[in-house]
Amino acid sequence: MAPNRKKPPLDVKRLVLHEAGYKCSNPVCRSILTLDIHHLVPVAKKGDNLPDNLLALCPNCHSLHHQGKIPEESLRAWKMLLLSLNEAFDRRSIDLLLALDRVGRPLYVSGDGVLDCASLIATGMVCITEGRKTEKTTHHYGSHFIYTVELTNKGKQMVGAWKRGDQKAAIQSVESPNTHST
Ligand SMILES: [Zn+2]
Ligand SMILES: [Zn+2]
Repeated sequence: MAPNRKKPPLDVKRLVLHEAGYKCSNPVCRSILTLDIHHLVPVAKKGDNLPDNLLALCPNCHSLHHQGKIPEESLRAWKMLLLSLNEAFDRRSIDLLLALDRVGRPLYVSGDGVLDCASLIATGMVCITEGRKTEKTTHHYGSHFIYTVELTNKGKQMVGAWKRGDQKAAIQSVESPNTHST
């Protein structure tokens, strides 16, 4: 008789989902619909149901991994990077990093938006390139400033390494001084 495979307890599952922001841990995917819990060390190899051994993945990325199309090193790197990014940034900042990478051009934000990405600016991941006044409209008396937010080279390197699952390069990019290329 096959032993009954134990599933992670609900509170552990919630913790692992929370860690990934209730999104697939693959930074290229970030699907939100349904999420599996993958064991980094398989249950068959005595992998446990503790949070350190578990990673939230969407069914598609999960099966890509088990088909050998996403290597285990990538999963481990995503896990470690999620833990460190969660320490350094809030959810909105992490989403903004990926959004800036995905659109591939600067985004315009208001003054409040600038405050939202303060931690990304402080760590040199994004920069505010300019502030300009909006035109007066009939709905708003006066004008307000719009800022342009974009990834720095350091931010681009970090997100690139994160997407490739290259933990070493991601750490190096965070530790490297911020340089602006011309
Ligand atoms: Zn799995
Ligand atoms: Zn996915």
